[in-house]
Amino acid sequence: MTDIVFPHQRSSHTKIVATVGPASDPEEVLAQLIQAGVDVFRLNMAHGGPQQAQARLDRIRKVSEQLGVTVGVLADLAGPKMRLGEIPGGEYKCIPGTPMTFVRGNTASEPNTFTTTYEPLIEDVKTGDRIMLADGTVALQVAEKKKDSIVCSVVQGGTVRSRQGINLPGTKLSIKTLQAADIENAKWATKAGVDFLGLSFVRSVSDIRELREILIETAREETGKWGDIPHIIAKIEKPEAVEAIDDIVQISDGIMVARGDLGVEFDIAQIAVVQKKIIETCRKYSKPVIVATQMLESMHHQTLPTRAEATDVANAVLDGTDACMLSGETAVGEYPVLTVQTMHRIALEAEKLLKARQDIAGRRLMKSTSVTHAVCDAAVTVAEEIDVPMILVGTRSGRTALALSNQRCFTMCAAASSNERALQRMNLYWGVFPMRNVPENPPKKGLDAVVQAGKKAGYLTHGDRVIHIVGITPDSNHQNVLYVHIVE
Ligand code: PEP
Repeated sequence: MTDIVFPHQRSSHTKIVATVGPASDPEEVLAQLIQAGVDVFRLNMAHGGPQQAQARLDRIRKVSEQLGVTVGVLADLAGPKMRLGEIPGGEYKCIPGTPMTFVRGNTASEPNTFTTTYEPLIEDVKTGDRIMLADGTVALQVAEKKKDSIVCSVVQGGTVRSRQGINLPGTKLSIKTLQAADIENAKWATKAGVDFLGLSFVRSVSDIRELREILIETAREETGKWGDIPHIIAKIEKPEAVEAIDDIVQISDGIMVARGDLGVEFDIAQIAVVQKKIIETCRKYSKPVIVATQMLESMHHQTLPTRAEATDVANAVLDGTDACMLSGETAVGEYPVLTVQTMHRIALEAEKLLKARQDIAGRRLMKSTSVTHAVCDAAVTVAEEIDVPMILVGTRSGRTALALSNQRCFTMCAAASSNERALQRMNLYWGVFPMRNVPENPPKKGLDAVVQAGKKAGYLTHGDRVIHIVGITPDSNHQNVLYVHIVE
């Protein structure tokens, strides 16, 4: 039997998601990133299709296997990202007082005109709507609608470049959230065994339902039965999604606070509050949440983050996020490994305060919502009362591990499963350490094996008490059982 591995260093309870790109493609960099604290790798499907993503996935799985650890993989679907068309000369300076006109087509041929990849733009916008360009730094307002063009005034001037993103904060879009390329990528992700699928620009629960149906159908076509499908992470970046946040959180498997587009769709002054509300909602429904974008932005080219970035990561941890995400920092940045190490160090420091606050305020922030949650709540109460060094949960689907994670318990929470996909997904759950190679049946055999390995690794010693939660499985009616075991 292969060894049961305990974490060799104290890792943060907050998980780290890192985007893979040219800077992190080499296998040795992937290995260093995992050792520095990456729990989940993100494949950004906006750049490159299934072929490139498959090569990256293969490398990630190979390296994690070599290191004997599990990592999760999140494929991020681009959704209906709108862009400017080509601008003659590549860029244009928008000046307040000089009207700009959007026309149909791919390349603007007249001065002061733009085109867009979003074909229904002229139909969708209303007079008075805002059109945000260049990551929100340039703002236009629709002054006049014509049959084949719209005339806009420049509210906030600045330089825009060909193919830069467009955001329409107040406009009801007629286009579907899932585009043809997203469907192709989602099918690939299901067949390839990707753990999480991010969906950009979610507006309502029907976007999630539609994606899930495609995943289920793809899995059924592949295997002839209802297979294991990627868990859906709804990316919250549209005002409509924030308005429907309770319903979207409940129907999704997880959430991403996608601050890049969120910061353009909303007044930037509101972003911190929106982030806190989304995290709170995820905590209420026990769903994992990722805070994304510009977390350590300056580390693209600097060996130290700014004070504000370091504080931002710490604040996300204190808000109660499950994970913090790195985008360009690890995909194209100069210091991918150092960036992850820095994020990890900041998380560890912030968690000291998180723990101290919980000790003072009491841990029980959320009411238990199910037997599984109540048993996990009880396990943590017992752990605190009698000071146990480890809680071990046996779970097939990973649901009990997620319920335990929601307790935000600082005792080590190890989760054993014979289901590799479940183990991979646990890498996103706050404070859960996925443990492979643990015998499943009878549960006592698994516990004994973990205790032996824990003693060998110096985690456990004679007389320690270990809590063992035997979890329910989706296909059984058994409820959770909680044991307190004394290490011999
Ligand atoms: C974001 O907008 O913050 C985000 C993570 O999405 P993307 O990188 O796909 O724009």
